[in-house]
Amino acid sequence: MTQQLEPMPADWRRALAVVAHPDDLEYGCAAAVAGWTDEGREVTYLLATRGEAGIDTIAPDVCAPLREREQRAGAAAVGVASVEFLDHRDGVIEYGTALRRDIAAAVRRHRPELLITLNHRDTWGGVAWNTPDHRAVGRATLDAAGDAGNRWIFPELREQGLEPWDGVRWIAVAGTDRPTHAVDATSGFERSVQSLLAHRTYIEVLTEEDPEAYCRAFLTGATAAAAERFGGRPAVTFEVFAR
Ligand SMILES: [Zn+2]
Repeated sequence: MTQQLEPMPADWRRALAVVAHPDDLEYGCAAAVAGWTDEGREVTYLLATRGEAGIDTIAPDVCAPLREREQRAGAAAVGVASVEFLDHRDGVIEYGTALRRDIAAAVRRHRPELLITLNHRDTWGGVAWNTPDHRAVGRATLDAAGDAGNRWIFPELREQGLEPWDGVRWIAVAGTDRPTHAVDATSGFERSVQSLLAHRTYIEVLTEEDPEAYCRAFLTGATAAAAERFGGRPAVTFEVFAR
């Protein structure tokens, strides 16, 4: 029998989701986010870039504000009002202390118990190669939980009034091929379709299909794939690291 996935920890009030690009959270995570905001939990989105290099036919200076707008709409569809951008360069995000410091600063500002990020591993399902941006942001987010809690790492943050926050208890990574936990996607599913559909410009370039049919089919497939390991319920999966 396949190993069953654990339910996600529920003992938290604030989450910070840190990803590289607009749409990273909408390709799967958003159904879980919708359920959490329904329960009165606070979720903030932090994006390393504005996704300005994501659409071949649209130049970065035009693309950035457009994708920011679509990202804010996608977040609003699942009850997230707070969306921040770090303005690293799309496609060439570097893993390193600059990125760790930016994420640690956000962790200190928002004081989450749960950090969320996207697949930091080399591949998607052992098949497709992951992008350097996802790897860099995923790894830096896993590392920033500790950086945020240590007063001697990035002392300049304390000079800016950002005191250490060592309250991150879990880092949940979406989209890995080694999931450990899951969230029932049923109640948030419709809103997750709307949140992905908010990235309309990106999706219209990506596919010839009707955008809504494309979003619905993708998210149905993704959540159904997890069901056999989660009591038959459609689910969003996470690889959870405890601290
Ligand atoms: Zn991405």
